Amino acid sequence: MLQKLLLLLLLFQHCTCSSQEYKKLHEKALVVDTHNDVMISMLEGLDLAKDLTGKTHSDLNRFKRGGVDVQIFSIWSDERYEKGKGFNYANRQIDSLYAVVQRNPDKMMIVKTPQQLKEAVRQQKLGAMIGLEGGHMIEDNIDYLNRLYERGVRYMTLTWNNSTSWASSAKDEEVASTTGGGRVGAGLTPFGKQVVRRMNEMGMLVDLSHVGEKTFWDVIAVTTKPVIVSHSNVYTITPHRRNLKDEQIKAVAKNGGVIHLNYYSGFLDSNYEKRKAIFAAKHASEIDSLKQLKWQTFEIDFLMARRHPADMQALRPPLTALLDHLDYIVKLVGIDHVGLGSDFDGVESTPLQLDDVADMPKITKALVERGYKKSEIKKILGKNFLRIFRAAQANISN
Ligand SMILES: [Zn+2]
Repeated sequence: MLQKLLLLLLLFQHCTCSSQEYKKLHEKALVVDTHNDVMISMLEGLDLAKDLTGKTHSDLNRFKRGGVDVQIFSIWSDERYEKGKGFNYANRQIDSLYAVVQRNPDKMMIVKTPQQLKEAVRQQKLGAMIGLEGGHMIEDNIDYLNRLYERGVRYMTLTWNNSTSWASSAKDEEVASTTGGGRVGAGLTPFGKQVVRRMNEMGMLVDLSHVGEKTFWDVIAVTTKPVIVSHSNVYTITPHRRNLKDEQIKAVAKNGGVIHLNYYSGFLDSNYEKRKAIFAAKHASEIDSLKQLKWQTFEIDFLMARRHPADMQALRPPLTALLDHLDYIVKLVGIDHVGLGSDFDGVESTPLQLDDVADMPKITKALVERGYKKSEIKKILGKNFLRIFRAAQANISN
């Protein structure tokens, strides 16, 4: 009994010591988040410089409190913005990011190169980077891809849930495998390979979140530079089409790429969907009426989460769920291939303790408590991303 007490005391001392150190470590380290969807709310008239607590996961003050140095803002649209609309819609979102940067030059700056990233850190401003989520927004046009690069897009997620004419999505490949439907031969078409080569050439990272397995393997075969997986997790722990199987994780490591972990409860905890189904049954009539109004599933999820916060609270997994995915990747392929890609403002549920971007230091605390070394934690928080960003930007021709 006495031995047990002594052990507990030792553990307690270890934790308090660690918890004093984690804040310093988090403050000093380069902290990069590779996926945040708040820009879509900016189009609806919200101002990132205002306190948006209760409305969004993110705003400028909370990025500061969370010690976030670089945020890659996702420029997103669904399949409703395809031919004739997608490129324009993407540019409108980029316009609103530029506008918020212009209004807050003392707090943030646009980052297009690794040098500018360093400069943003030096000036203690939020480095705002751009990722395009959904290849349909280039409207099958390489010139549009070039123009988006010029505006600052530094990764493109080849597909969102919808496939493009040149790359199949995880969702569509799953539907095709269960129904036998979908585009014959899926994966990348010759034009899709041309898109990947052009991205390599000009210094835009190829993002493999959301793509189907066939597209994934085609990209791995074609790309000459490290890939990014901007917001996905481990399939073995949570078997969801948005997560990566062990062979894919190994392939990303071999390619020199980095998998950035998504905080969405549904990708972290395989029981989340079951709990959510019980929630949906309880509120069935309310959800049905929204469906009749032709609301999209994600729009319904967001509204329901806001309307029933107490019920939603009970659905959240513990923070350790995120750490379990991280440990798994580190054990499988080492410390150099994992980072953070929250998906804040793109998901209706995140683990307990991770309420918004201000909670990022809690991840550092948890990493310290799991016994990760300082040098390892720095890699996870941002150095791994900086490595692939530099690799993407090396030997470029525009
Ligand atoms: Zn996404």
